[in-house]
Amino acid sequence: MNTKIEQSPKAQKVVERMGQKLNRQMAGSLLACVHCGMCTDSCHYVLANPGDVTYAPAYKADRIRKIFKRHFDWTGRVVPKWAGAATVNTDEDLEELKDIVFGKCTNCRRCTINCPMGVDYATFNRMARGLLVSVGVMPEGVAVVSKDQWEIGNQMGVLKEDYLDTLEWMEEELQEELDDPTVKIPVDVPNCDVVYSINPREVKYDPRSIADAAKIFHAAGESWTMPSEGWDMTNFGLFSGDDELGGSVAGRLFESVVELEGKTLVISECGHGFRSTRCEGPNWAKMDVPFVMESSVNTMLRYIKEGRIKVDKTKNPEPVTFHDSCNNARSCGLFEEPRELLNLVCMDFREMYPNRSENYCCTGGGGAMSMAEYTPNRLKSGIVKANQLKETEADYVVTSCHNCVDGLSDVIKHYELGMKVTQLVNLVANALVIEEKVAVPVEAPVAPEAVPAPAEEVPVPVAASKERLPLEGRRILVADDEPDQLEYLSMVLEDNGATIYQASTGDEVLEMARKEKPDVLTLDLHMPGRDVGEVFELLRKDPELEDLKICIITGKPELRALIYERSVRPPEGYVDKPVDEKKLLTNVRKVLEVVHQES
Ligand code: SF4
Ligand code: SF4
Repeated sequence: MNTKIEQSPKAQKVVERMGQKLNRQMAGSLLACVHCGMCTDSCHYVLANPGDVTYAPAYKADRIRKIFKRHFDWTGRVVPKWAGAATVNTDEDLEELKDIVFGKCTNCRRCTINCPMGVDYATFNRMARGLLVSVGVMPEGVAVVSKDQWEIGNQMGVLKEDYLDTLEWMEEELQEELDDPTVKIPVDVPNCDVVYSINPREVKYDPRSIADAAKIFHAAGESWTMPSEGWDMTNFGLFSGDDELGGSVAGRLFESVVELEGKTLVISECGHGFRSTRCEGPNWAKMDVPFVMESSVNTMLRYIKEGRIKVDKTKNPEPVTFHDSCNNARSCGLFEEPRELLNLVCMDFREMYPNRSENYCCTGGGGAMSMAEYTPNRLKSGIVKANQLKETEADYVVTSCHNCVDGLSDVIKHYELGMKVTQLVNLVANALVIEEKVAVPVEAPVAPEAVPAPAEEVPVPVAASKERLPLEGRRILVADDEPDQLEYLSMVLEDNGATIYQASTGDEVLEMARKEKPDVLTLDLHMPGRDVGEVFELLRKDPELEDLKICIITGKPELRALIYERSVRPPEGYVDKPVDEKKLLTNVRKVLEVVHQES
């Protein structure tokens, strides 16, 4: 029968490439489903959309299965209708498939453990993502992040100089905190026992985690280093289904450890980073990796068990709960270590239910945080996580995954749970007892000579500290609706001496500005609630806020008209995102100079 349907070139390629990608495991999963429906209620999308069958794992899987059957299974080729086989013909078919595989599944694999037939839907969902990516059909966020990881080497486009500057900055912070100039964040030191790799999110939004890890390595007396190249342990190939990208990213990291002749690669707390580096990376990169790889969770636990660091759990008295990242827990079996560690460093650890392999996704898995078009649906599905979190009545939710930090922060904000998100590295660093280590310096006998010096040198540190705190005495209102950005901007400004107030909606900006009368407002142009342009105009017209200086910080320059076309005094400063420490401080100081010149 010559019933060949005309397929678009992209659809043809997708089918062809499916044939190349199929392996025994995928084919087994594609064939095994008996449509019993037992997986249905395991999916957080289903629970948040009751009655909508299009979210059921088996329904979503069938969108891919029917193509497989039509082209690669004999029943589907011979009696397609009877076998439920069909193909993709048009680019619209591909777009529809895109919305299912990227927008309706986070590849969390919870349905897999609830399937009596062992169907691993996430495996072939990832394959389908990869097929679409190979013909250029993907959410814009996936394209942007993949491009950054291909071209710049990390998925947040962090430049090498910014990475190295941040390490230097954190080293200074740590030396100051521990009052110990010997504390280092070593870079490219060969032959170390540990090479430490991180998530670029730490450089961009959470540098404190780098300092906390360094504090722990220092306290443990570890021989460690960070690489200047190939330092990103995340791998967007896991999300996009692009094995080539996966191999290139993992290979870069492995090569940097080989070059440094490191003995153990320690992977900071990140679920997909851990899975893609330790479990999938060697296969993608086709490399026989000659060193050990472990999660920093295991490293920290080992240090405590070996007596290399001492911790005092009374330093973390608040009630905390733990969120198992899907990749760490369900896919890599990291269940008990984080709990053991939590019980050692926290006074009040309480489980959320369900947990371990049965835990629900944070909603941000599978690269969901980068796909803005699916955010409303993602947040709707977050009701499941929100209920889990609420029931714990904990103040903090701890997670060993940077992706989960973002996913959970969004859910907490959306459902107004008032909880905070943190990681084990922060809790361990906070619980550290390091007095003895700090007092170790061999120069102890020299102390008598050194005693008078500090007394006479009192003005020097004061001057130095003034140098470091250019914003001392300044009151700054930071307004941004992205929790990461809000925290990052606040932290940088606070570390430089400012008193910080925060707002994440237009109405909150108005309220806080009127109540606190800050010196400077850093204003994001895209926030929920009242229109930011209107907020800006109301602030400008408020006689009590005449002295308020405003610095716009935006990732959406197209919204500038909101502000600049108004017939009120324009803002004193303007900064494009992404913002780093230097850029932020320079601009805020410039804005403050305007104040000085005018007064
Ligand atoms: S992998 Fe997770 S998100 Fe995807 S269908 Fe299964 S349970 Fe739902
Ligand atoms: S539980 Fe397994 S066999 Fe049953 S519908 Fe879901 S995927 Fe198919």
